Amino acid sequence: MYEKQWRAYRWLRNTVAVLFSTYFLSWGAYVALGGDVRRDRTAGFASVCWLLFAILAAILLSYWRCPRCRKPFHRTSMLNYEFFPRKCLHCGLEKFSH
Ligand SMILES: [Zn+2]
Repeated sequence: MYEKQWRAYRWLRNTVAVLFSTYFLSWGAYVALGGDVRRDRTAGFASVCWLLFAILAAILLSYWRCPRCRKPFHRTSMLNYEFFPRKCLHCGLEKFSH
């Protein structure tokens, strides 16, 4: 019943995970290879863009709506937020259930 919505959720969740993990891994590799972001403007610009995309994807994920009740799945308010909820914080719909 909610396959399409859960597929979109998985894609967004995986995108957030890949963007953040590769951001820090690439920084480590860049520094290990002797890169200096203060001199390399292209690397600095790419880094800022990468981080902005990661933050934007995380914000979109935090506002992702439950397929059943259409309220944000991860939060009940600005202060009450769960990173890895097993069920909707509003209606209790289990993650990936139909
Ligand atoms: Zn719900």
